[in-house]
Amino acid sequence: MKKLLTTISPGGNYTLHSHTQFCDGRFTMAEFAQAAVNEGMTCYGFSPHSPLPVASSCNMREEDVPLYLAEVERLRQLYGDRIKLFASMEIDYLSKSWGPSIPYFQSLGLDYAIGSIHFIPTREGKMIDIDGSHERFAGSLKNYFHNDLDYVVETYFSQAMAMVGLGGFDIIGHFDKVADNASSVRPDIESTPRFKFLIEQLIDAIAANGDIVVEVNTKAFAKSGRFFPDEKWWPMLRERHLPVVVNSDAHFTSLISASRDEAIRRLLRANII
Ligand SMILES: [Zn+2]
Ligand SMILES: [Zn+2]
Repeated sequence: MKKLLTTISPGGNYTLHSHTQFCDGRFTMAEFAQAAVNEGMTCYGFSPHSPLPVASSCNMREEDVPLYLAEVERLRQLYGDRIKLFASMEIDYLSKSWGPSIPYFQSLGLDYAIGSIHFIPTREGKMIDIDGSHERFAGSLKNYFHNDLDYVVETYFSQAMAMVGLGGFDIIGHFDKVADNASSVRPDIESTPRFKFLIEQLIDAIAANGDIVVEVNTKAFAKSGRFFPDEKWWPMLRERHLPVVVNSDAHFTSLISASRDEAIRRLLRANII
């Protein structure tokens, strides 16, 4: 775990996960920084979707990375002591040759890195984004995965296990995110013993790494009533004494603190923080 993460109180006023003009966010970094100051945040992390070796309109371009880092620096100068601004990335794990641990990302000097799974390989080896809307997921399931939901879920978790095994990141982003789309196809999937096994296996791997903070992602709570990870898995986090942070994963400045108070209230009640 990066030292700066040990200085952040999980129940404090911050967010370490946000998206701006450099990826698929709808507001500029300057607008987000001002929104964070207006919210009274003590620290704020920019985390554009990382460059990828495959085409993706949601991800930042490699040639924009220096501009991005320069903009963090400019905003740091502008705001001074009023807020701590961090340069991060939400790095996609695709394979052992493209993920948080590769030398390229390690060389960027980020304050911390978030590791997330949004893409998984088809049986034919094509990388497909499985993180969009329910409708888009249903289309991808049919068009790329032969309607094999079990394959998608198993592959999502095997990718996450591989990412955790290789390390090179500090926060694991929304680690059960596939559950949202998978349960739109098969509503009871999360109550199966196999799904629970996959979750517990991943949490055990995170605990064994010993250096990863678990993100409680509030992005979808207002719409779906669900955090990532879902509350039903939180006792496993508590039992393993895993550190957590609460992130809004905002793409709009108006959502910079979305459902944060609710998440903190529930984490306190569950004795996680
Ligand atoms: Zn994400
Ligand atoms: Zn994100």
